[in-house]
Amino acid sequence: MKTQVAIIGAGPAGLLLGQLLAKSGIANIVIEQRSAAYVLGRIRAGVLEQTTVDLLDQAGVGARMHREGLPHDGVELCFGGQRHRIDLHGLTGKRVMVYGQTEVTHDLMDARGAAGLPTVYEAEQVKVHGFDGQRPHVTYRLGGTEHRVDCDFIAGCDGFHGVCRASVPATAIQLHEKVYPFGWLGLLADVPPLHHELIYVNHERGFALCSQRSHTRSRYYLQCALDDKVEHWSDDAFWDELRRRLPAATAAELSTGPALEKSIAPLRSFVAEPMRFGRLFLAGDAAHIVPPTGAKGLNLAASDVGFLWQAFAEFYGGSPKALDGYSERALHRVWKAERFSWWLTSLMHRFPDGGSFGARMQQAELEYLFSSKAAMTVLAENYVGLPM
Ligand SMILES: Cc1cc2nc3c(=O)[nH]c(=O)nc-3n(C[C@H](O)[C@H](O)[C@H](O)COP(=O)(O)OP(=O)(O)OC[C@H]3O[C@@H](n4cnc5c(N)ncnc54)[C@H](O)[C@@H]3O)c2cc1C
Repeated sequence: MKTQVAIIGAGPAGLLLGQLLAKSGIANIVIEQRSAAYVLGRIRAGVLEQTTVDLLDQAGVGARMHREGLPHDGVELCFGGQRHRIDLHGLTGKRVMVYGQTEVTHDLMDARGAAGLPTVYEAEQVKVHGFDGQRPHVTYRLGGTEHRVDCDFIAGCDGFHGVCRASVPATAIQLHEKVYPFGWLGLLADVPPLHHELIYVNHERGFALCSQRSHTRSRYYLQCALDDKVEHWSDDAFWDELRRRLPAATAAELSTGPALEKSIAPLRSFVAEPMRFGRLFLAGDAAHIVPPTGAKGLNLAASDVGFLWQAFAEFYGGSPKALDGYSERALHRVWKAERFSWWLTSLMHRFPDGGSFGARMQQAELEYLFSSKAAMTVLAENYVGLPM
């Protein structure tokens, strides 16, 4: 097979890039190691920045999101038993859209299928070759047969554990990493959300987040120990612990029900630099990870793709240098989102070695935040997403 851009990975980054490239008349194939059902079954992000909404519109897949998504004008931070609202829209003129990553993926898969664009699921032993020269290609096995795709470029959209970043020589890449001493235990349930906006909780027992996917589906998280196991948490134990971390009046309003999904995710900050290696370009989680506190992971994947799409469109439009700025442009935005995600994580979680000094620093910072329009504006600007 021959194509212009071979995209590795059918997560949001890979599928969105494929859709945008196709809109610009650039041929592409998506090669994914899992089945479509497996990809759709992964419960992940749910808060979209305006830049992500705009890109989904440009890709022609925004209709259902606008119908079913929930625009949010604010977010709440709860500390010392008090809830404080950050007026995102009042402070920035912007809002965020609550619409699950699963739904985004669904819409992108449907559009790709309807357009008849080639996608290979359940590809085994995916390997990327020759990206340091003029003739890159990708090989994989499917149904016991070896396949080869010759291409102009490879887009590594294959997530944190993918093959693309791992194929780059160690001397050509610089890795920056911070692992946090806790994880998030998440629970998804078909119950109405506790509140119409998200509530982030800093509590002495640990962080909690009351999030949502729709008017009838809620997503809750609890800070947990890194070595904790999902099997240790019955649904009742989860709901009881969540109630303990909420103000009593708020806890009384919580609707509970059986978990549709429960999982534990470790928290990590990670950046690989640069994001281009010859004819291989990294985008999304393949290049960087943020702790989910700032709701930036999916949004960064989308903005990388936005930059990469523009660069490819200009390149094929006759500007041979257009691809040169991709890594720098993307990383400029990535590092700002890394900073915000690290800051909000540090502010809202209880650190095992934080001691009373760490707790008082958080208290001082939160009290200042709630008293200062300037400080709330900084939070709001970053939460709704910095410009691309
Ligand atoms: C448990 C969890 C919860 C999260 N919660 C949030 C949240 O609440 N808010 C938020 O903003 N972000 C969250 N994130 C982050 C967000 O989901 C990611 O940033 C987003 O999925 C990145 O998209 P991506 O396409 O870059 O990578 P992925 O979604 O990881 O997609 C990569 C794709 O590549 C495929 N792949 C991997 N290796 C290969 C290979 N060798 N060959 C072919 N295909 C391959 C994978 O199967 C996958 O389909 C969460 C992530 C996790 C893991």
